[in-house]
Amino acid sequence: MDEHKRSLIVEFEELLNDLIEPTAQLSNIVDKTKHSLTLEHQKQLDCLKQTYEKQINEIEQQLMNLSEIQDQRNNIFKQLIKIQANEILLTHDDFQKVEFLTKEITQFMKLSKDKEENKVNLQPKRSKFTKCPLTTLNVYGLALSHNVRLCCPKKKIQYLYHHLCNYHRLTTYYTNELIQAIKFDLDPTTTIIFPLNTKIISLDDKYPCPLHYTPIESEIRCAPCTTLVTRKFLPVHLQTVHRLRAAEIKEILKKN
Ligand SMILES: [Zn+2]
Ligand SMILES: [Zn+2]
Repeated sequence: MDEHKRSLIVEFEELLNDLIEPTAQLSNIVDKTKHSLTLEHQKQLDCLKQTYEKQINEIEQQLMNLSEIQDQRNNIFKQLIKIQANEILLTHDDFQKVEFLTKEITQFMKLSKDKEENKVNLQPKRSKFTKCPLTTLNVYGLALSHNVRLCCPKKKIQYLYHHLCNYHRLTTYYTNELIQAIKFDLDPTTTIIFPLNTKIISLDDKYPCPLHYTPIESEIRCAPCTTLVTRKFLPVHLQTVHRLRAAEIKEILKKN
């Protein structure tokens, strides 16, 4: 009985020891995520601060211009009182001053209106396109043995999820993992998402049809398409559902 108890305790201890490494890994990932979040937060704060300072400077400049205009108008008004009191004569010059001031006010109004219409957005602009990270091996643990096709570094991707599934044939699990890592800005050279000797692509799985994001205005039959198709069945699907011609199908297959 004692022997059995001891062996159970040893087994329990071993199980507990086995947890040390995964726990450390998890803690590492959480630390990295926290660090990237802090960096991103700081970047956004800096950007916000800069935009705010720029706008405040512009407004202060406007206030200065406005006060100059008011001074000029007050001076002309004083001139008018003197003219009315016959202290000085009304000259052509006085009319010119008023004309000049009117022009200045019109210009000022136009500028203010333009600024109001083109209000600077305080949100930093994000590009609609993104770059695919799978342009080289040794990123996120990617090795030759994974048999993933690489893509050109200049390629601009609009729908990364779709691209990773369709072009690189990553399984949905690894696609999601990779997208999370990109979102948290994890270092591709040290973060391992694709473990060695693991199947990360799937040629038989179903993928969203390449016409998934094709707008309705394209006038392609049944686009945008929400069907999931296998690679093998894709040409048939494109022909029967979307009624595409052989050349168009060939073009799509080349891209996907
Ligand atoms: Zn790619
Ligand atoms: Zn389709």
